[in-house]
Amino acid sequence: MNTSNHRVKRVLLYPLAAAVIMSAALIPSAPLAVSAAQADTALSAPAPADSRGSSVSGNRTAGNQQQQALSRVAVIIDDFGNSMRGTEEMFKLPVKITVAVMPFLRSSEQDARRAHELGFDVLVHLPMEPRQGKPEWLGPGAVLTSMNDAEVRQRVEAALDNVPYAIGINNHMGSKVTGDERVMGIVLEVCKERGLFFVDSHTNYRSVAGRMARELGMPPVENHIFLDDVHSASHVAKQMKLVQERALSQKFCVTIGHVGIQGKETAAGIRSGIAEMKDKVQFVGISDLVREEWKWNSRLTLP
Ligand SMILES: [Zn+2]
Repeated sequence: MNTSNHRVKRVLLYPLAAAVIMSAALIPSAPLAVSAAQADTALSAPAPADSRGSSVSGNRTAGNQQQQALSRVAVIIDDFGNSMRGTEEMFKLPVKITVAVMPFLRSSEQDARRAHELGFDVLVHLPMEPRQGKPEWLGPGAVLTSMNDAEVRQRVEAALDNVPYAIGINNHMGSKVTGDERVMGIVLEVCKERGLFFVDSHTNYRSVAGRMARELGMPPVENHIFLDDVHSASHVAKQMKLVQERALSQKFCVTIGHVGIQGKETAAGIRSGIAEMKDKVQFVGISDLVREEWKWNSRLTLP
């Protein structure tokens, strides 16, 4: 991303963030955490998957009729835990999804249990300090770079203890923390001790999480495409097409959407994407992907 591009994004973003914050302030139930997440996302989202050459037709020409194993898509939905808008719609999606639950909120435990009962994977959606944005956007129990090693460890362990059935962690915001070797080292260490893995939401394109995970013998799982960086069902459906292309060209794709202010629209866009893609790709939980792509077997046994 070049600097002028970055500047344009900032100029566009600040009035938007201000508007979101003001509207959130007017609606007591609207959690600030979501606007913050999206602000973080908008500033440093990874470049969209490139769409050259990797088309479906390219695959088809190589292709034989025998249906080889379908490419896999893992859809992660962030920001559960606060009875957010779109929660029901996401739970009703017709394929396996991965539910990322923020700790210490009013429906954290309930959302995690519900997801598990439905056969969905559960992640702790751990609030982590961003490079921009205010600490109060993060939600309770956040990991900050100003904390010492023991404090970071305590925060990560407390969050994991708060969300039942979690098989891993992904980051809420976190553009600063995922670039910090000391703090990420502790987060990954706790994951490894508990037989969990870390999914880099990729809010920082200079994240060290993937490289450090590899060094520790853990799967370097990361988000490839944000679905709802623009808020409309049609944009989400368009992003789902990119997800399909990416999955077909590299055999799998991890994608992230959100419950929240626009959660119903995001769910609708995902639903229509699923309807179009279900014969071309296989929708899996993040645990299936980690097991099959990285041959990584968690020691974790769920009740
Ligand atoms: Zn989030």
